[in-house]
Amino acid sequence: MSTTQTDKKTFEFKAEVKQLLNILVHSLYTSREIFLRELISNASDALDKIRFKSTKGDEVADNDLPLEIKINFDEKKNTLTISDTGIGMTQDEVIENIGTIAKSGSAEFIKTLIESKEQANNIIGKFGVGFYSVFMVAEEVEIKSKSYNKDAKPIYWKSDGAGSYTVQELDADMKRGTEIKIKLREDAKEFTEKYRLESIIKRHSNFIYFPIYIDKEKVNTITAIWREPKSSVKKEQYDEFYKFLTYDTEPPMDIIHKSVDAPIQFNALLFIPSKHDEFFWMHRDNYGLDLYVKRVLIQHKNKDLLPEYLGFVKGVVDSEDLPLNISRETLQEDIVFSKISNSVTTQVLNYLADKAKNNPDEYAKFWKEHGRVFKLGYSDFSNQDKYMELLRFNSSKNDNKDELTSFADYTSRMKNEQKVIYYAFGSSREAIELDPHLEIFKSKGIEVLYLFDPVDEFVINSLRKYKDFEIESVENADLKKVEKLENIEEKKNEFNKLEKDDEKHFSSLLSKMKSILGERVADVKESKRLSGSASCLVSEGDGLTSSMQKILKMANQNVGSQNKILEINRDNKLIRNLLEVFKKDSNDPLIENATEQLFESALLLEGNLEDPHKLVKRINELLEKSSDWYLGKR
Ligand code: ADP
Ligand code: MG
Repeated sequence: MSTTQTDKKTFEFKAEVKQLLNILVHSLYTSREIFLRELISNASDALDKIRFKSTKGDEVADNDLPLEIKINFDEKKNTLTISDTGIGMTQDEVIENIGTIAKSGSAEFIKTLIESKEQANNIIGKFGVGFYSVFMVAEEVEIKSKSYNKDAKPIYWKSDGAGSYTVQELDADMKRGTEIKIKLREDAKEFTEKYRLESIIKRHSNFIYFPIYIDKEKVNTITAIWREPKSSVKKEQYDEFYKFLTYDTEPPMDIIHKSVDAPIQFNALLFIPSKHDEFFWMHRDNYGLDLYVKRVLIQHKNKDLLPEYLGFVKGVVDSEDLPLNISRETLQEDIVFSKISNSVTTQVLNYLADKAKNNPDEYAKFWKEHGRVFKLGYSDFSNQDKYMELLRFNSSKNDNKDELTSFADYTSRMKNEQKVIYYAFGSSREAIELDPHLEIFKSKGIEVLYLFDPVDEFVINSLRKYKDFEIESVENADLKKVEKLENIEEKKNEFNKLEKDDEKHFSSLLSKMKSILGERVADVKESKRLSGSASCLVSEGDGLTSSMQKILKMANQNVGSQNKILEINRDNKLIRNLLEVFKKDSNDPLIENATEQLFESALLLEGNLEDPHKLVKRINELLEKSSDWYLGKR
């Protein structure tokens, strides 16, 4: 560097950067070559930014420079240089951009990186820490950069990646752009071989929209394949473009390539990945489509072209009908843009609807991977009909937990008189099938949707209706509507009808139970829904279901005391026995014990029993007594 230097300043990298650098420098990743992809991608971003500014009419230094990326290498000195004519950086910008990890979620990123070395390759780019990957191959890195801002001075940055870097302004002439010079490590000599560099660029950077030159030779093919007619694009090209776009290692599950002309022109090339993005929930930033106007990239990962619940979709949208100088800030309010985004959303939903109809097995695979994100769409009211048709649940009419049922399937199997869709929530299919609330539905042969995912409850609660059918939980269902429906099998009752007298005793027993439980229950009533179990808890009308209550409690919401009704099945052996005991002595301690036990067991089944100690103690005492009886000791 033969330039006048202004005061050189030394800075320490931020702690999380140091941690990251330490991992990158000391771990031997098999795919070190991706450092080149990252540097080229930064150069391309910088070129996109300057093109955007210049089409907008902003003042730009060296406006006539061709927009391009150049790669030079020196085998003897073991150096590699990547330069671009992009937006450049000022001293403040280089300190701000390189030296800290700006994006949220980066601390998690570092943890993930430590845990899964094999995945480092596709994680690095995703989390916006790409630049540092250069230290997998570099002994030392120098950056010279000149901002597009006419008054800015060129800057010089240098670091060996160990912990600190230096920056200074240069009193030299430099054209706009950035030059990154890498002194390669001894074990990274391969990156000065022309053939090797070419093949890396072909593999990872082929679709970069600016020319990449090695020794004056262009190495990438610049095509906007989303603009090509579908018939001329081969599956391999789509796959290659998809991998370039997403860093995914597997080809996509679906390719949606659309060219729409009216009322607004746009091309969309969209992909559904074969695997869900395991980082989606912790790194929600990482969704969105790339928005182009007349082939010029306007915005990476635009989040308004598709709603978040379709965030698993990757790809590109390009329109002729938006102005090139559109500002990203006002995009959302632009009428043309909002028409495009509505149409893109419709395209995706229609595509999924076709898939569900014509290829249910493939749709089931889609649902397994992306259903959890898709379900978030319950708040997209403008597309609610389409959304509802695409939802899937497990159901009592399915043979196992993996089969899927739609609302349409359910309603097509419904009983003639049935007007309501019923669902039950539980931790698993087995758990739901043992739920006493289902007994009446079983004896009537009424289908019940089984919900296992906590989100399902929110989904169902916010929908409430499918076509003309109400949706109700088996816990809160209006029993009058259920009772009206025919039984599939005659109720085989092993119990005699209660005599008039006993009827009276039975209702006094219920009152006695209520007085034992006091404020803990809203009431104790005879059950119409049970045909086997002795008791269950129900909430009246619009009350919260037990699972909803649990979710709210977990979220520390004060749900108040949701006291429920304890229902007692008179046609149950235990209850009949209790009735006899009660008739002999209404104050027999067994009544109190059994009532407490019935109540707490019902709470336990719902997952709402806070302290199991009393219940366990009571059971043990009962077992002790019954084993005594068994041995004839009493
Ligand atoms: P990301 O590209 O995801 O932002 P990187 O670690 O790859 O993360 O880059 C960090 C930042 O450094 C970029 O966002 C950009 O502001 C700046 N930068 C890197 N390379 C260049 C370049 N060639 N020209 C201009 N700015 C650059
Ligand atoms: Mg980058």
